[in-house]
Amino acid sequence: MRIILLGAPGAGKGTVAKLLTEYDESVQISTGDILRKAVKEGNELGKKAGQYMERGDLVPDSLIMQIMEHRLQEEDCGKGFILDGFPRTIPQAEELRDLLSRLGIKLDFVVNLEVPKDVILDRLTTRRTCANPSCQEIYNVKSNPPTPEGKCRKCGSPVIQRDDETEEAIFNRLETYNRKTAPLINFYEHEGLLKSFESLSSNDTVRGIQRHLASKR
Ligand code: ADP
Ligand code: ZN
Repeated sequence: MRIILLGAPGAGKGTVAKLLTEYDESVQISTGDILRKAVKEGNELGKKAGQYMERGDLVPDSLIMQIMEHRLQEEDCGKGFILDGFPRTIPQAEELRDLLSRLGIKLDFVVNLEVPKDVILDRLTTRRTCANPSCQEIYNVKSNPPTPEGKCRKCGSPVIQRDDETEEAIFNRLETYNRKTAPLINFYEHEGLLKSFESLSSNDTVRGIQRHLASKR
């Protein structure tokens, strides 16, 4: 499959993307994960991106496009991809459209995950993440806690609250989403690619996406 996942922070893009990778050989591409890994490694990309991410601001479009232009041409993308957290702005979406047409790649559709605002806020403030960059399992202090010692159930690393999960950064991320990313819903509607799902359960959403894919084949 070749799809884009749209949705506010906390809408469950990461969870849905992971579940979808079990459906066929498509790879999950999360710009957030790529950037966090770069920050951890302290490489040049990480140094440039880290300051924006801490505040909950978007990383400049030019930097994101450099990463994605390269990433989408790697071999593992040949079997399909699930874009999680990209594109995030109209310029990114326009550049992606041009890039895909240059590469001769056609998207199946764009998934818009619709989740009520109060659910989003609750999820973001209770979310915790495994600190191990190659694991990054997501936990929730209420519904899916780590071990009583605060360790990851998968890899045993400490489970932490991300810098961008402080209350201030969360509000900034939501405001940035409304201003910069929500307009992509209209953009893809206009392109005839949009398919919205009310997404309270990731499993139901994944089934809905699979049905929609099957109906198009
Ligand atoms: P969220 O949970 O807010 O959806 P992500 O893990 O997708 O978070 O991204 C974390 C941070 O990385 C964002 O707040 C932003 O600073 C940066 N980022 C990720 N993807 C993009 C993108 N496509 N364009 C600009 N910045 C991005
Ligand atoms: Zn872990």
